[in-house]
Amino acid sequence: MSFLSSPTGFLTSTIKDALGWARKYSIFQYPFVTACCGMEYMSTAASHYDVDRFGAGFPRFSPRQSDVLFVVGTISHKMAPVLKTIHDQMCEPKWVVAFGVCTCTGGFYDNYSTVMGIDTIIPVDIYIPGCPPRPENVIDGLMKLQEKIQKGEQSRTLYDPRTKTGRPAELSQGYSIEQHIKHIESSP
Ligand code: SF4
Repeated sequence: MSFLSSPTGFLTSTIKDALGWARKYSIFQYPFVTACCGMEYMSTAASHYDVDRFGAGFPRFSPRQSDVLFVVGTISHKMAPVLKTIHDQMCEPKWVVAFGVCTCTGGFYDNYSTVMGIDTIIPVDIYIPGCPPRPENVIDGLMKLQEKIQKGEQSRTLYDPRTKTGRPAELSQGYSIEQHIKHIESSP
């Protein structure tokens, strides 16, 4: 015990590094694919680009067995509660990748039905811009995600479109599911 709590923290930091290394090469991704970006997602996952090299070639379709949520394509206000529920159902530690400009910011869909960036609903760790992003961009994002996983870092911040600032995800009072439901009910 005294060794564990020693000033150098040798054992605890070594275990943390080993866990980070194991996690970053065993990514179980949940692909939440809604639109045309899905084509580029499939292209990246196929043999030519081969995400298996990064330990990320095995998609899971159960949130409870996944640790990285890949959100691929446009998210509407009707879909937002489903996305939030899936994210809530994933066990910790978990990470989120926004794939394509629609998920990052809403893209060119500046209208009543589209969510203007999924980081208003769930915290996002890696943003991959592009319409759609090239596989090289996706691999770059994947490698940046691996760096975060190795360091044990996770995003805990949501973007608040009213104040244009971040706020802690735990205090998700601003853009809640209840607001989404009200938005849907008040839409023509
Ligand atoms: S970013 Fe472009 S390709 Fe991707 S879902 Fe949006 S419109 Fe489609």
